[in-house]
Amino acid sequence: MIQVKNLTKYYNNFCAVDGINLEIKKGEILGLLGPNGAGKTTTLRMLTGFFKPTSGDILVKDLSISEDSLKIKELMGYLPESAPLYHNMLVFDYLCYVAKVRGIKKEKIPSRLKELSDLCGLSDIMHQSVDELSKGLKQRVGLAHAMMNDPEILILDEPTSGLDPNQIAEIREIIKRIGKEKTIVFSTHILSEAEATCDRIVIINKGKIVADDTTQKLKNRAASGSSINLSLYDADPDDVVKLLRTIAPDIEVLKKEPVEKGVASFEIQSSTSKDFRKQIYLKIKETNWSIAQLTRESQTLESIFHELTKGN
Ligand code: ADP
Repeated sequence: MIQVKNLTKYYNNFCAVDGINLEIKKGEILGLLGPNGAGKTTTLRMLTGFFKPTSGDILVKDLSISEDSLKIKELMGYLPESAPLYHNMLVFDYLCYVAKVRGIKKEKIPSRLKELSDLCGLSDIMHQSVDELSKGLKQRVGLAHAMMNDPEILILDEPTSGLDPNQIAEIREIIKRIGKEKTIVFSTHILSEAEATCDRIVIINKGKIVADDTTQKLKNRAASGSSINLSLYDADPDDVVKLLRTIAPDIEVLKKEPVEKGVASFEIQSSTSKDFRKQIYLKIKETNWSIAQLTRESQTLESIFHELTKGN
């Protein structure tokens, strides 16, 4: 449905999006996850034809954004982070206005508004002024706006940002409902948000993709990994690293900042679910080092996210 090829965007000399490649399938709900400043909004603005890429291309159903930007815009609905609503209008009048601008025939407007009202839960607020609405309700009106011409693709920039937990749950439900028929790309900096709503998560950091997988596979990857915290008295850190590396080829021994004088600390990572504490203990028993700490922590999706996006 959408192919993103080597997409790059510079703001003067600053590279905000750095050679992104992506293939988004029809019907997918894809979450673009990353910390603030990672390049999510810039990527979405290029996807919707708002910004021209510095280099690279985006193909939507084989149309190129550099040549067919108008045709591509017709296939897409876009909800920016702050929905651009006319605040002094009633919701009904505002959506009628959007329908006219979008070229919907006059006789079809009432039925389209009814469909959108049902989809986005607007029936109770149709005759309220936009500026009286809570942020969650404004976001629902913004979604109805983005869906007006029944686009095949919906692009949402941080759709739940600034909402309370109930409003977040409501918007999530609407996105999932819409996602049964449409292709959706939405950005978020909140991991649980992507986890709860998306089929696939693409993590970006400093303009680059650092992970791209189905939500389930990322969860499995997290569940199968673990790390062990080890602190020792009377040990030379280099000797410890050398000794522990002999336990298994797939474990990684990282030196940590010592928390206490005379204590050497390490993090031992493994990509398998195997618990190596017994082997570590038996190795250390052969030396004259004493154990101050030997504990195991399971990896979570959150720890993977922090690991992949650290330094931002
Ligand atoms: P995100 O949506 O992930 O928070 P953005 O795409 O908004 O990230 O921004 C990526 C980087 O590009 C940030 O460092 C931001 O400061 C910078 N940036 C965004 N928009 C502009 C702009 N119009 N001019 C210059 N720098 C920008």
